[in-house]
Amino acid sequence: MQKPIPVNTPLLSGNELKYLTECIETGWISSEGHFIKVFEEKMAAYVGRNFGIAVSNGSAALDVAIKALNLQKGDEVIMPTFTIISPAQSVINVGAIPVLVESDETTWNMDVRKVEEKITNKTKAIVVVHIYGFPVDMQPILALCKKYNLFLIEDAAEMHGQTYHGQQCGSFGDISIFSFYPNKHITTGEGGMIMCNDEALADRCKKLRNLAFEPNGRRFIHYELGWNYRMTNMQAALGLAQLEKLDEHIKKKRHIGQKYNEGLTGLKGFQLPQIKTDYAENIYWVYGLVAETETLANETVKKLSEAKIGTRPFFWCMHEQPVFQKMGLFKNEKYPVAEKLARNGFYLPSGLGLTEEEIERVCNCLLE
Ligand SMILES: *Cc1c(COP(=O)(O)O)cnc(C)c1O
Repeated sequence: MQKPIPVNTPLLSGNELKYLTECIETGWISSEGHFIKVFEEKMAAYVGRNFGIAVSNGSAALDVAIKALNLQKGDEVIMPTFTIISPAQSVINVGAIPVLVESDETTWNMDVRKVEEKITNKTKAIVVVHIYGFPVDMQPILALCKKYNLFLIEDAAEMHGQTYHGQQCGSFGDISIFSFYPNKHITTGEGGMIMCNDEALADRCKKLRNLAFEPNGRRFIHYELGWNYRMTNMQAALGLAQLEKLDEHIKKKRHIGQKYNEGLTGLKGFQLPQIKTDYAENIYWVYGLVAETETLANETVKKLSEAKIGTRPFFWCMHEQPVFQKMGLFKNEKYPVAEKLARNGFYLPSGLGLTEEEIERVCNCLLE
């Protein structure tokens, strides 16, 4: 009987238990505990930002980011169609309009050559989403933000420790965000962080995550609405222990990616991830495959599942989301590259707990 290989297994091999135990023994378990501040400061220092604001998850971080920048009804926000729903949801929830961009065939990121044609006099911001371990080509995006005076929101949820031209992902946006979900490079179980350099913006984010309590006013009197998106001290304790291991985790991810690259040479009918360009080397947050046909993708996923090997389908495009179609959004829009990624793409077991033997088993199964 072969053991199942799950699509993700986290690695909790450092000071997690020690710091968590400290939370329990001292009774500091809420968002008031001291690990929050330490985790925020260390993460900000790692990424090279002035401020980190810890929140309850990555999607919450995007909600806060969009609201903190005062994006509102009628504003247009450019983003990829091929992404998790979180950034689109945050934009729509403040009444702004997502304007979608086609994907690049090899990096699977937003095609940066197709962004400028989407800019109108209502455009207020660009959201970049670094997809599956390979960064967006940032230079053209930064140039557009400057030329048209747009905010840049950087969804670096999958990119802790990845760099673009040597500079940390998560350091490019007016606001950038990370997620600490268990399949990310470092995890807090559930968790997220907002990063920025501007102090006023950081204060506004802190206020919005905390029910928009006035920091200096009388408690329980509110002048606007926020959320309770606070992170607990227990999550931050995990996060701190994980951050100490981030460089190791990245090495491990790259090792897994390289093993798959080697093990899958000669595999016919599938496109493998982009290995590197002049600006970045893949960090293989997940190891994705894109089949030549949808049938091949479905049959392969089925065979892998029969061999007890877990997979996940790729993201589903925003312009094809039933929830947005019901709202009358993105009518008749077509993005063939992104649609193919969504239909023919899936990823292999990629978690930090994956062993060499498991990788070999997955490769052999695929080659068969
Ligand atoms: C994981 C992820 C998120 C959401 O993070 P959660 O913590 O799960 O809410 C947002 N954007 C991207 C690109 C992600 O991969």
